[in-house]
Amino acid sequence: MKNIVILGSTGSIGASTLDIVSRFPDQFSIVGLTAGQNDVKLEEQIRTFKPQVVALSSQTAADALRVRLNGHPVEVLDGEEGLCAVARHTECDLVISAIVGGAGLTPTMAAIRAGHKVALANKEPMVMAGHLMQEEAHKQGTRIFPIDSEHSAVFQSLEGHRREDVRRIVLTASGGPFWDWPLDKIKNVTIEQALKHPNWEMGAKITIDSATLMNKGLEVIEARWLFDIPPAQINIVIHRESIIHSLVEYRDGSVMAQLGLPDMRTPISYALNYPNRVPLDPPLLDLGTIGQLNFAPPDFEKFPCAQLAYDALAEGGGLPATLNAANEVAVQAFLEKTISFLDIPKIIEETMTAYTPRELRSVEDALEADRWAREKASMLRNVAVK
Ligand code: NAD
Ligand code: MG
Repeated sequence: MKNIVILGSTGSIGASTLDIVSRFPDQFSIVGLTAGQNDVKLEEQIRTFKPQVVALSSQTAADALRVRLNGHPVEVLDGEEGLCAVARHTECDLVISAIVGGAGLTPTMAAIRAGHKVALANKEPMVMAGHLMQEEAHKQGTRIFPIDSEHSAVFQSLEGHRREDVRRIVLTASGGPFWDWPLDKIKNVTIEQALKHPNWEMGAKITIDSATLMNKGLEVIEARWLFDIPPAQINIVIHRESIIHSLVEYRDGSVMAQLGLPDMRTPISYALNYPNRVPLDPPLLDLGTIGQLNFAPPDFEKFPCAQLAYDALAEGGGLPATLNAANEVAVQAFLEKTISFLDIPKIIEETMTAYTPRELRSVEDALEADRWAREKASMLRNVAVK
């Protein structure tokens, strides 16, 4: 029996993880869950999965939940310290990190510092402080396993091979809904259009990130630290169908890839069961019926966000955390309908330009860069609104 904690259990990845857990009740037990504000969904999950402890980042939501759970044997914590306490759960075998955004950095670090294995969906902390997370995992003698489908594909394609034989890794990107739109049409896209991802059903923030190509930029930085591979050896290719989830090219010309129908339960299940596989029994991958797989080079001019991520990675220090925070502010403003789609890369670029380079020696340094960039990007957002 594996004891599981899920950080961000009420989200898209959280729900898919619980779906797998519910199919294998003899193999997994949920010991802790956390959410941001959604106490109603968390209550349903508590009644079904019976964790020992839960936490909400919102104190108001936690208070409401405590009243409704009166008499139920679960401890309800709140605030960031509450989330960290769940992440440190002493009877936990694996922490699923599935909070969205930089808000996941401190709880995920708490899990690593407690020596827990972490299955990581929450890519933003890796962008902010990936080398520090890996250093800490190494120090604690634990590991971070990827859940992101591209990184799971790379992880699977590296299995059984020597790292020194890797020539490059290629991350596939669907290109999002506006891939083949002309720029003057992209200028006026609506939230509804941006939230329609061609292949995946995901939370709102990552869906917008996919439409701007920032998601792929964040994934390049995530790959840099997950696989300890130099940025020059990480490439992106547009692959519209999201069937090939990523590739590893070796120095003899062999290319290993992982394929599958787009369903996050496959990479989540691999991280949950590694190195084993369990019968999820999705529909067969019928390539004969699919017929064609299409590819194209990425267009960094039309979608500058991915290039900004490469730039941030090249500069290093606090700049990736700055990129990430500015993106979070801009995406939120777009979701609130206060700025346009093309304002997103503008706000990020201007925030990055205004940043005075600083080294990143600790998680606190990353959080400091994050706070500074949120403030700067919020000011730029207010200008864009007028
Ligand atoms: P989501 O918005 O559906 O869920 C986010 C979860 O985080 C929810 O449980 C929410 O309550 C919690 N949360 C939000 N803000 C919080 C805060 N400030 N403090 C504490 N908890 C907070 O997001 P998602 O689509 O499940 O994505 C989660 C992470 O996984 C993201 O980093 C995303 O990039 C990554 N990811 C998602 C997918 C996918 O298919 N959804 C695929 C690959 C990677
Ligand atoms: Mg991905």
